[in-house]
Amino acid sequence: MAETPAERPRRQEQEPASVEITEVAPGILRSQLPISLPGLGHVNCYLMEDARGVAVVDPGLPGPQSWRALTDRLKRAGFKPRHVHTVIVTHSHPDHFGGAGRMRDAYGAEVISHRSFRTWFDPAEDEALPDDHDDAGDGGDAGDAGAASTTAASPWGRQMPWRSDVTFRPPVSRRLKFGLYRVMMKRFMRTPAPTRRVDDAEVIALGRREWVALHTPGHTNDHLCLYDPASGIVLSGDHVLPTITPHISGLVAGADPLTEFFTSLDKVAALDGVTLALPAHGHPFTDLRGRAQAIRAHHEERLDALRAAVRELGAASVEDYSHKLFRPRSWGQMAESETYAHLEHLRVTGEIVSHDERGTLHYALTE
Ligand SMILES: [Zn+2]
Ligand SMILES: [Zn+2]
Repeated sequence: MAETPAERPRRQEQEPASVEITEVAPGILRSQLPISLPGLGHVNCYLMEDARGVAVVDPGLPGPQSWRALTDRLKRAGFKPRHVHTVIVTHSHPDHFGGAGRMRDAYGAEVISHRSFRTWFDPAEDEALPDDHDDAGDGGDAGDAGAASTTAASPWGRQMPWRSDVTFRPPVSRRLKFGLYRVMMKRFMRTPAPTRRVDDAEVIALGRREWVALHTPGHTNDHLCLYDPASGIVLSGDHVLPTITPHISGLVAGADPLTEFFTSLDKVAALDGVTLALPAHGHPFTDLRGRAQAIRAHHEERLDALRAAVRELGAASVEDYSHKLFRPRSWGQMAESETYAHLEHLRVTGEIVSHDERGTLHYALTE
């Protein structure tokens, strides 16, 4: 049965963006920018003041609306955009890198990301974008811009629809659609083009703190957390969120994103002396280790449910398995890409095998 709203309290991550600025740690301010994505009502944009001005972490979505919110929050905190000397982008999803390119172009801000930061619409990657989609279904997943997927069909055989959560809806002709979409992307999604790409364990001096870069692939390949060992503060991005589990997409380069995610969860759970986690969505929280372990346990349960489903169904498609794992209201591309990530994990670890059945991938128990 459908759950009533009373049975499903709103998650922290769904709260609409408040205009309030709160100091969550000495010299670190939490501001919130509006976004409207499934399960998400705001993105936290942290402001870190130092002698040179201010550094911002994850400056919201691309486009004028988010930019207005960003400049409003800066003003409420006593800053002008020109005071922003650095933008940190935790990963290649649009709700995190949106304002970065404009800050760089208009105010000369440094844009810091992990070494592997990559969006599929970078001009440098234009050659990789197909020009003609007439005979090839729809384009890639705009919402998961970091997924680097511009193929017409998913690896498991689903024709990829345009994400309904992207505000710009292209017109009917697929060819026109893709071309126009690309123009819009270039216009509004100014490429973040990082000016400094950091490696794991590199130290970044910002906001009167020495942050240690933690490469935490899983949610995306390029996810970056920052850790200040002196105070025990971790900027956890989308890697560890307070009450929802971050989406793990199978649509990333690399065979087994779930294993990468587990390794990254263990990595932050192993940090000593953590006092505060500052997530990209939802409220700051203190038990980073406990939360990382709980998220891992959630996926372990999902894997067990999937093992049971494989035994029950014998051989089935990603879509069929996703219907076993997710409730009907969640069915669709997001559920399938996460199910695909879990199935691939079991395949890579040798528990199940896959085969193609008329263009659709099927998974079954290893003989
Ligand atoms: Zn994300
Ligand atoms: Zn996010």
